[in-house]
Amino acid sequence: MLGKLFGKKNKAEVTSSAPQAKKADKKPHGRGKHQQSKKAKPQQPAWTVDQFKVPVLDGKARFHDLGIDDRLMHGIADLGFEYPSAIQAASLPHTLQGHDVIGKAQTGTGKTAAFLITIINDLLNNPIEGERFAGEPRAVIIAPTRELVVQIADDARGLLKHTDINVVTLIGGADYQKQQQQLQNNCVDIVVASPGRLIDFMQRGDLYLDQIEVLVIDEADRMLDMGFIPQVRRIVRSTPRKEDRQTLLFSATFTPEVLSLTEQWTFNPITIEIEPESVATDSVEQKVFIVAAQDKYRLLKNIVTDDSVESVIVFANRRDQVRKLSERLQKAGVKCGMLSGEVPQNKRTSTLQNFKDGKLKVLIATDVAGRGIHVKGISHVVNYTLPEDPEDYVHRIGRTGRAGAKGTSISFACEDDAFLLPTIEELLGDKLKCEQPPEELLR
Ligand code: AMP
Repeated sequence: MLGKLFGKKNKAEVTSSAPQAKKADKKPHGRGKHQQSKKAKPQQPAWTVDQFKVPVLDGKARFHDLGIDDRLMHGIADLGFEYPSAIQAASLPHTLQGHDVIGKAQTGTGKTAAFLITIINDLLNNPIEGERFAGEPRAVIIAPTRELVVQIADDARGLLKHTDINVVTLIGGADYQKQQQQLQNNCVDIVVASPGRLIDFMQRGDLYLDQIEVLVIDEADRMLDMGFIPQVRRIVRSTPRKEDRQTLLFSATFTPEVLSLTEQWTFNPITIEIEPESVATDSVEQKVFIVAAQDKYRLLKNIVTDDSVESVIVFANRRDQVRKLSERLQKAGVKCGMLSGEVPQNKRTSTLQNFKDGKLKVLIATDVAGRGIHVKGISHVVNYTLPEDPEDYVHRIGRTGRAGAKGTSISFACEDDAFLLPTIEELLGDKLKCEQPPEELLR
C-alpha cells in the first residue's frame, strides 16, 4: 500500500544547494586531504542499458523507467534483478527525487536494494568537484547487528560493481585499526555501521558526519528493542539538519515509539507499508509439530539428519539453548555451527561463510544473530522454540523459500510455547496446520 505524499522536497535542495552552502565554510577536520582523483577503472567494453532486456508488462514497473544512472543499471542487471520488488516500486520514484521515506518492511522484501539504489544514484548524479577529506562519508547506513551490516555492505558492493563509489563497514568485534585505515586511505563514500562502533569512530575523531547527504536507519524497531536509541539519536544529531539531508527509515513494525522517532528524524516523509503476508510465506510450506518438550531434541536431530534436508537454520529463543543444541548435535556427528551474541565476531563470520559454502549443514541461531542473513538454498527452517514476538516468526521463516525457491518451515510447539501460536496466526492472517510429527522422526 502506498502511503500519502505529505510534501515535496526537491532533490536539488538536498544534494546541491544546501551542501554547497555548507561546503563554502567547510573547515577541514585536520586530517589527510584527498584530491578527487580516484583511480580510473580499467576500460571495459561499453555496456549499454539496451543489453538489460526486461519485457514491458502491464502494471509492472521497470528499473528502466526510473531514470537510474547506467552504471548502476549495469550492477542491477548483473545481480539478475528484473523488475523492482513491491517496496522498490513504491519507494524509488520518491526517494530518487530526494524525498524522505519511512518504510514498513521486513527482510526479504528488497528494502536493502531500495535504499542502496537511492544512495548510489544520488552519489553518481552529484559528483563532488574538488578536494574531499578523510573520514567524511556522503551516506551512512546504520543497522542493529553486525551480520546485517556485513550483509548490507555485500549487497552494496554488488550494485557498485561498475562505479568508483566505495563502501566501508564499521562493526564492533572487528579490528579497529583496519577499519580506521580504510577511512584514512581513501575518500569514503558510503559507511555501513552498527551504532556503537560508529560512535567510537566519531569520538576518536576518525569520522565526521557533517557532510552526510543520505542517512538510512534500518530495522528501527530492532534498534529500540536492543536499547540503541540513545546512540542512534547521537548519530542523527551529528548529521546535517533533517531539511538538509535525505532520511530513509525502515522498520518491520510501526509501534508508537518508532513513529515518534520517525517524526523527529524525517522531513515530510512518504510512508510506505509492505504487508508481511506478501513476504516469503507463499513460497514456504509451514508445518507445526506438536511435541512434548522432552522429545524436541530427538525430533530435531532426526529432521536435520534426514537426507531430504539440504541446509537448515534452527532458531531458538535464548543463547544458552543455541549453545546446548549446537554442542549436542556436534557430539552426534552433525556438521553444525552457531550464531549468537556470545560468539565472537570473527567466529561468526567464519561460521556463516562455512554455512554458505555448504561445509556446515546446520546453523543454530538466535533471532538477533539470525536476522537478515541471506544464504541461498536454505531448504528448511526449524523453530525449536516459538518466538515471543510474532514478527520474528515471519523473519525466521523468510530465511528459506527465497529467490523463487520453495522452502519448508517446521515449528515445534510444546506445552511451554503453544500459547504463542494464536498471535502468530493473527499476524499471518491465516491458521497454521498443527500436526503430530511422523512416528519415525520421534525414534
Ligand atoms: P532484503 O529484503 O533487502 O533482505 O532482500 C532480499 C533479497 O532479495 C536479497 O537477496 C536481494 O538480493 C534480493 N532482491 C532485492 N531486490 C530484488 C529484485 N528487484 N529482484 C530480485 N531480487 C531482489
